[in-house]
Amino acid sequence: MTALVLGGGFAGLSAAIQLALAGVEVTLIEQLPQIGGKAGEVVQDGFCFDTGPSVFTLPQVLSDIFMAAGEDLPVSLTPLAPLCRYLFPSGFVWDVYRDVGKTTAQLAERDAKAYRDLLEEARRLYEDAAPTFVLGAAPGPLALLCYALRYGLKAHPTRTLPQLLARFNPGPELSQFFLRFATYLGANPYRAPAILHNVAWVELGLGVYYPQGGVKGVVRALEALARRLGVMIRTGVTVERLVVQWDRVSEVVTDQGSYRAEAVISALDIVRTHELLGRATPLASREPSLSGFVLLLGVAGETPQLAHHTISFTADYPAEFAAIARGQPPQDPTLYLSLSCKSDPEQAPAGCENWFVMANAPALRPGDDWSATGLAYAEHLERVLAQRGLDVRERHCFRIYRTPQDLARLGYRGSIYGSAPHSLITTLRPRQTLSGLRNLALAGGTVHPGGGIPLALLSGKQAAQLVLRRLSGTGVYAEL
Ligand SMILES: Cc1cc2nc3c(=O)[nH]c(=O)nc-3n(C[C@H](O)[C@H](O)[C@H](O)COP(=O)(O)OP(=O)(O)OC[C@H]3O[C@@H](n4cnc5c(N)ncnc54)[C@H](O)[C@@H]3O)c2cc1C
Repeated sequence: MTALVLGGGFAGLSAAIQLALAGVEVTLIEQLPQIGGKAGEVVQDGFCFDTGPSVFTLPQVLSDIFMAAGEDLPVSLTPLAPLCRYLFPSGFVWDVYRDVGKTTAQLAERDAKAYRDLLEEARRLYEDAAPTFVLGAAPGPLALLCYALRYGLKAHPTRTLPQLLARFNPGPELSQFFLRFATYLGANPYRAPAILHNVAWVELGLGVYYPQGGVKGVVRALEALARRLGVMIRTGVTVERLVVQWDRVSEVVTDQGSYRAEAVISALDIVRTHELLGRATPLASREPSLSGFVLLLGVAGETPQLAHHTISFTADYPAEFAAIARGQPPQDPTLYLSLSCKSDPEQAPAGCENWFVMANAPALRPGDDWSATGLAYAEHLERVLAQRGLDVRERHCFRIYRTPQDLARLGYRGSIYGSAPHSLITTLRPRQTLSGLRNLALAGGTVHPGGGIPLALLSGKQAAQLVLRRLSGTGVYAEL
């Protein structure tokens, strides 16, 4: 049996490994010179950076992949404490731990109670939803009906996230804190449905981990496992067209020749898959999720105000998302900083720090040209950091920045998570099959079960299972 996997991000790697474990002959095709997709890396002057994801959650998903291959996880995962430090414009500094007592001891009584209650609400929402929407194949009508009958009303179907939070009476800072988790799925928190509150549980309840060597260490470990299992990895090869004959993808045309296989898994952004098929996609008319602007700074000296992960909040969160909704980069954005050197001194030269700084940004609109504005925005973000007491302008040895335009090679219009989950319908991620195509399955952060490292890994595994059922003749595609 033969299969082609298109895309070498977490989803493509996971799919390729699952197929190879089942004895399928797999070729993985990746356009970039290296594997990893959004999980890129930069090494400069002794500083190492992850250029994409840095918050690593749900480690069991990764361990399961190695366990299925009869191997121990080759990357050590350190639980982070605090999970993240929050810097508020009022001067309040809050270290948030998995330990609820330690976290709430820093809050006034009203907020301590609201935190406990909101965390419990997030746990319940996650545990009710995960079996149907995350941990298995995309739910069909029956599974959706069962969820709706059992948990539907408790999932606050008519409420937005801000309306749900308001019921627990948090103070403005605690409310801002809980709103932020919706951005993990690329949503504007003020337009997110209440169900997205479940995301908070994944980080606050289940923990954040640092993979030794950074997220790039995880990419390397998965790539090495895939190669050990015999996956042929072709980097620097761009898929240009998917040729359809009857009900099958009969040929994958690349800039370096054509490939054929019994089954194809496309682990690309779903809009790109449609484009390669020559199909119009309804998703292209949907609102794209958030993009991001990333600064990588090699910084001399040490900054005790920062933890491994730190969020520096804007004073005006609604204004940040109003600017993004207008298609403008926010002038006073919330900034996420990740300094992996705080847990892993090898990530920066002695006495120095590797700063990853990220601001939410709008997906590209026609006419946007970050090549003209990127440098000015990077300098602007450094001024914002300085205004918030984190002046690195005299301390950094170099600055690298990545704009939504750079991300557009990986995601439609530079969006990170596919279409924005601003309603119950759009929160439900697209299914992993396309009507009329029996030997194609979809994987990745823009389809079921969604974005982020663990979900992309699960998506790859689920796509592989669809293909295996097809190849073994059990006819899963009969549902199409
Ligand atoms: C800046 C940033 C920060 C993030 N932070 C976090 C975080 O902290 N925690 C977290 O869990 N998630 C985070 N994410 C999200 C996470 O990175 C993604 O959801 C996940 O990596 C998606 O993996 P994927 O395999 O679906 O897609 P991708 O990583 O995009 O992989 C798709 C691959 O397909 C390749 N490709 C595309 N077109 C073609 C073609 N025509 N031919 C051949 N190859 C092609 C691409 O080059 C790419 O390698 C972040 C993302 C970004 C960008």
